[in-house]
Amino acid sequence: MWFEHLNTQLAQREAAQLTRRLRVATSGTAPHQRVLGADGRERELLMFCSNDYLGLAAHPAIAHALVEGARQWGGGSGASPLVSGHTAAHEAVAHWLGDAYAPHIPQARALGFCTGYMANLGVVTALGDAEAELFCDRLNHASLIDGARLARARVQLYPHADTAALDALLAASAARRKLIVTDSVFSMDGDVAPLAELLALAERHDALLLVDEAHGLGVLGQRGLGAIEAAGLRSERLVLVGTLGKAAGVAGAFVVAHGPVLEYLLQTARNYIFSTASPPALEHAVLAGLRLIAGSEGVQRRAALRERIAQWREGVRAVLAQHPELPWRLLESPTPVQALVLGDNAAAMRLSAALEAQGLRVPGIRPPTVPEGSARLRVTLCATHSAADVSRLVAALALAAQTLGVSGRCQELAA
Ligand SMILES: *Cc1c(COP(=O)(O)O)cnc(C)c1O
Repeated sequence: MWFEHLNTQLAQREAAQLTRRLRVATSGTAPHQRVLGADGRERELLMFCSNDYLGLAAHPAIAHALVEGARQWGGGSGASPLVSGHTAAHEAVAHWLGDAYAPHIPQARALGFCTGYMANLGVVTALGDAEAELFCDRLNHASLIDGARLARARVQLYPHADTAALDALLAASAARRKLIVTDSVFSMDGDVAPLAELLALAERHDALLLVDEAHGLGVLGQRGLGAIEAAGLRSERLVLVGTLGKAAGVAGAFVVAHGPVLEYLLQTARNYIFSTASPPALEHAVLAGLRLIAGSEGVQRRAALRERIAQWREGVRAVLAQHPELPWRLLESPTPVQALVLGDNAAAMRLSAALEAQGLRVPGIRPPTVPEGSARLRVTLCATHSAADVSRLVAALALAAQTLGVSGRCQELAA
């Protein structure tokens, strides 16, 4: 029974062009990375798919801190945080975060999780009890969606970034406690949530606002603290989740919130309480990553990143202008997440393959990661991409547009 069912399901995915494939990288995270091909041969590709936006994963200070941390602390933490796994290395990160976010959240305190996925599940389930109601942006990350599914609270979805619709839902709610849940930078579109308006709604309706800064941390704000820093927000109602495996260059995640909120999470978030604390050496490296983000090197890297984003947008707009026959659409985004929407799953995968044939890796993203009919290329840019790297991407796209545009017209003529 089992195997027949599973094989049928897998065959259906394959037929719908939805099969995902694992690839093996044989060198560390960097714009030019070696990967094994389907034929087992190693090749160097120019990568536009990592979320290591500042290029810190390959930063010597982080490798050094990992080694230093391993020498001092050895391997694992051995227990959950409330038992004995919380070390001075974990405490130093929490302390740094509490200080850094104090201008934005009164009495800011931080709690560490092993991944952002875990942090989101933990926070949404802990705050989303049976008396609460959750108000979630439709395009929120899978981990926030899964948190809402697990939570006992009632769940309302509002249309993407639609604050008027959210206002109406909040007004209609009779729940005792309300929690608005949003990505800060949307992971597949790259746009930034209207955080000032969302916070105003939270205040008007006595709600908390949970902001997932997975793609904002390191990228936005003068000190790289994320979209809430860029928007200049300050409130006791803000609950922030940040991930440390993306721009911070290491691994893990944190929640920062107003003292009592944080204390409640520490007492009740089940996957904080019942999961082994991260290895202290990792925390030691995380602290190095956070310091780089907030320091002058972070400022410089963010400036380089903004230049690459502008260069890419200008380049791709020129390609689109030359090919009005193609239904490609570049989404508005001021962040390193840049989506070129093609619509059709097969078309997105064909374009991704055409770029890969030219030595570039730009993943095609299909449903269910994005809504049906909005398959796309998701280009991510890093501060460590050179201007020449971005030019190469634009040129490869122009070549693919020409080839695919021509073959598209041939198909139309033949039909
Ligand atoms: C990547 C991501 C997460 C999960 O973080 P991990 O540390 O990778 O588990 C959560 N939210 C968003 C928006 C993300 O993009």
